[in-house]
Formats: sequence, C-alpha cells, structure tokens
Amino acid sequence: MSVNGASSCSQNNNKQLDYDVIIIGAGVAGLYQLHCMRELGLRVKSYEAGSGVGGTWYWNRYPGARFDSESWTYGYSFSKELMDEWDWKEHFSSQPENERYLNYVADKFGLREDIQFNTTVTAAKYQEAEGSWEIILDTKEKVTSRFLITAIGILSAPVMPTIEGISQFKGQSFHTYHWPKEEIDFTGKNVAIIGTGATAIQAIQEIAKDAGQLSVYQRNPNWCAPLNNGKISKDEMQDIRARYPEILERCKETPGCYIHSTDPRKTLETSPEDRQEFWEKLYASPGFGIWQGNFDDMLVDREANDLASEFIASKIRQRVKDPVTAEKLIPKNHGFGTRRVPLETHYYEVYNQSNVELVDINDTPIERVTENGIMTSDQERHFDIIIYATGFDAITGTFERIDIEGEQGAKLKEVWKDGPQTYLGFLVQGFPNMFMAMGPHSGLGNYTRTAEYSVEWITGVIRHAMEKDFTRVAATSEGVRDWTDYVLGLGEDLLMNEIGSWMTGVNNNVEGKKVPRIMRYSGGHPAFRDHCDKIASGGYKTLSCN
Ligand code: NAP
Repeated sequence: MSVNGASSCSQNNNKQLDYDVIIIGAGVAGLYQLHCMRELGLRVKSYEAGSGVGGTWYWNRYPGARFDSESWTYGYSFSKELMDEWDWKEHFSSQPENERYLNYVADKFGLREDIQFNTTVTAAKYQEAEGSWEIILDTKEKVTSRFLITAIGILSAPVMPTIEGISQFKGQSFHTYHWPKEEIDFTGKNVAIIGTGATAIQAIQEIAKDAGQLSVYQRNPNWCAPLNNGKISKDEMQDIRARYPEILERCKETPGCYIHSTDPRKTLETSPEDRQEFWEKLYASPGFGIWQGNFDDMLVDREANDLASEFIASKIRQRVKDPVTAEKLIPKNHGFGTRRVPLETHYYEVYNQSNVELVDINDTPIERVTENGIMTSDQERHFDIIIYATGFDAITGTFERIDIEGEQGAKLKEVWKDGPQTYLGFLVQGFPNMFMAMGPHSGLGNYTRTAEYSVEWITGVIRHAMEKDFTRVAATSEGVRDWTDYVLGLGEDLLMNEIGSWMTGVNNNVEGKKVPRIMRYSGGHPAFRDHCDKIASGGYKTLSCN
C-alpha cells in the first residue's frame, strides 16, 4: 500500500472545520500517521501530551529501557532515504537512541510544525449534525475536524498500585513511565522497586549496579530469557542496510512481524538430546528467537510448553546461587512464553549480589507505604527511592482516560465495559469518522511493523472518503459483531489467553478489570493484513460511507 501520489483529495466539505484530520499522539504510529495525512495534502493537527515526540520512547526513561525487537526490524520502512541515513548502533537499541531516532524522523519530514506539544486531549465528541469531531484540550480549547485518529499507544496509561500511604513517603518516588528527565544517582541509595514485569527487569539490572541496597518486591515472577545484545559495527550496518528488503519481507511473513519464525517440528517429535541442543542454541541467540522461533507447538500444546518451561527453569536454577531465591523466580502459574517474554542481560545474576534482596510479597504482603519506606507484614524497610514498575491499563486504558462520545451520546468507555468491540481494530460502531491506529483487536507484534500497516490502512480509507466526498465513514453493527466474534474465537485455544497479563486485559493491577477479555487479534499478522487488504481493494464496501 502506498500513500504517495494521492493529493487530489477534496476538502470542500471540511471548510467550516478547523482541520480535516486530528491525530492524538506523536509516538511511533502518530508520527507516521501525520506524515501520511500531510502526503495526502490534508489539513492535519496532532496533539501530544509530552513536550517532545516519541510516545513510549519519550516517557519511559528508566535506566535499561530498550527495544526487545531487533533495532533494524523496528525502524520505519516507509522511506528508503531514512533507512539509508540512519545507523543503528546496537542490535537492541536503548531509549535515548530511540528517542533521538524519532526526533530525527520528525525533523526530517518537518512534522513538528503540525504538532502541538504539552497538550492532552481530554474529550472528543462526535457532532452528529455536522458529521465531525469536536476535540477538547486540557487548555479548554475546542477544535474541530472531519476525522479523528487515535494513535495513543497500547501501553500509555500507567497504573499506580492502590497501596495505603503512597503519598506520605518523604523520599523520591515515581512510576517507571513517569521517570524524571534529570539523571538519578543511585550510588549508595536504598532503593525499592515494586513489580517484576519487563520494565522492572530492565531497570533492576541497571539500578543494582550502583544502589547501596535494592529491594525487589515481587508478586509473581515472569519467565525471562537472555537478550544477547551486541554493538553494530559500521560494516555490519552496511550489510544490514543491503539486506533491508529481505529483512522486511521476512518480518511480513511471521505472525508477530518479528524476524523469528517457529521451527516446523513438534516438540515431542524430537529426541530429548535434539531438543536440548536446539533450546541451548536459542538461549544463546539474540532476541525473541526462544519465544517466537521455538517449536511450532510450544504455545498451543501443554506438554510441549511444560518441557520448554522446564528448560528455562533449569537455566534459572543454574544462574541463581541461592536455591530458595531461584525457586521464587520460577513462575508456577503460567508456562514459558504464554506472557510476552521479558528479555534480560544479567537479571538472574543480580540476585547473587549482596546488595539485592528479593521480597516475596506473597509470603510477607505489603501493608502500607510509610514516610520512610515500605511496611510488609514482617518489617518496615527504609528507602531513599521507591520505584513503581506496576505496569499499565493496557490497550483500552488510554481510550478510557479520554471522554470519547459517539452518536446519541454513547460513551466509548461504556460501549467497551465488557471488552472492546471493533471492526478490524480500526473502527467502532457508533463512532463514525474515528479511526484507531493500533486499536484493540488489531494485529499487534513488532510495534513499528504493525503500526505502519495500521497507519497505511487508515490512510487508505481517508483517501477514499476524501476522493468520494464522503463525510461519514462508519463501521456497521454487523461488521463489528462478526469481527469481534472472530477475534474472540481465534483466542480460544491459546495458552496465552489462560493467564492474566496486559494482553488479556486481566491485570491484577487494574481495579475492576479482572474478567478476561481478548484484547488483540491472535491469528497472525499476515492473515490480518490479508483480511484488511481485501476490504480495501474491494472499495471498503463493508463500511457504511456517505
Ligand atoms: P507488567 O508486565 O504488567 O508488569 C507489572 C508488574 O507489576 C508485575 O510484576 C505485577 O505483578 C506488578 N504489580 C502490579 N501491581 C502490583 C501491586 N499492587 N503490588 C505488587 N506488584 C504489582 O508491566 P511492564 O513491566 O511495564 O511491562 C508491560 C509490557 O511493556 C511488557 O510486556 C512489554 O510488552 C512492554 N515492555 C517492553 C519493553 C521492551 O523491551 N521493549 C520493556 C518494558 C516493557 P503481577 O504479575 O503479580 O500482576
């Protein structure tokens, strides 16, 4: 799909409106969406809560934050010139470099002039009579547009735990998402971190290097695997650049758009020796290979999954010297890979350091945060800094923090109270002219790969609407029902949907979201694209347009 050469869009119908298109968010999806709308020649405005571009890579400044997809699979692919100009320095690039990259993109394509920073969209109301959106900003300003595109990310509604006394703590404390811009010196400090998800795991490895004492408060452990990161030399970058077409093609073929594809063999068809050799090789290889490139049945067959889990457990036992701590770090409530796998570098070895303590809050629950630290059922520990790595109200949470009102006063939050209902993850019935880049029930995975597709599909519909002078583009109730049922059905047999995680919407950290809901399309991105491409090439006949 290309967005070029289509600037013949009529804007006559939109003259009375401030803009043709308003985009919320200037992260990975939002920046590209803005570029595409400009390429169509539309009057477009983006609103961004941060003071700079980058979204996830703007907010998450905690030490150790980095890609878990290979950098050279994560960058944008829409501009060959950009790919020719940008050198990745590490196979899994760190947050400062990722933020620099997204700033480079914003500058290269002149996007900044159409972005209003430091501005939160608080509400969006569909104006039925005009077929347009009124957007309300935290400045109390109101702006109107024909189309509204949400590019608000999937992990951008951070959640603080509801522990008594949090506000009474006299030291420094923050959620990892709201990490301060100024550098924090941990040297000799007493530090607590609550949570052991992917974020905490990246941060713990770094903070443990300098902290006087680091206490990790763990509720449930996660299965982690080695990142095996490395620097990229100039020569290697040249080689990667030459192989970009092949790399991108490969990503297009895999279910999550990662570079790794599953081994066609079934776990139990191989001998124990072959299995061991295969897993050792994966464990020593970079990135998600051990998760996405494992045996074909690893995420669907319980016995296969148990064997893979046992392999990873044996690695944890080898790496953590104290057997009691090792057992606490081995998940017992879910199998390997059934939650997104945090990638680590020396996470397990951290627990062999004398300045690091694992506090299992199942044994000694947190009672409250005090002025000086954290009180568990057995003792109070004193801290200089408390870090909340307690995750997100994922995927739908950010939508719910905006008061989005569609036709007949329907509130999106209400419509989705039992789980999201969408058409292709792009549209919601009753909310015409609103498109979601990377919305719930769309194909997720390697973020930029999947976001580029989302953005291009939305661009296609908007171009179609502008060319045909449509002022109302809407999902039908039948379309939404069928897509939602289809997505729910696809998720039924997956081990991944048996365990609560941000992907299943059952995060224990989010009050009131304890009922499992399928949040994402799990049929693989190639099939997702196939489905959506057919709708586009068929002239969007499954949408209601007038
Ligand atoms: P998360 O996976 O949801 O983890 C949150 C952690 O906080 C869990 O360990 C959770 O424990 C704990 N927690 C929440 N509330 C708590 C409470 N009241 N008391 C004690 N513990 C509590 O969130 P995340 O670590 O921020 O990661 C989310 C996703 O972000 C990842 O899966 C990944 O996709 C993405 N991410 C990617 C990268 C990358 O490498 N690019 C890095 C970081 C994050 P329970 O498990 O018991 O609920």
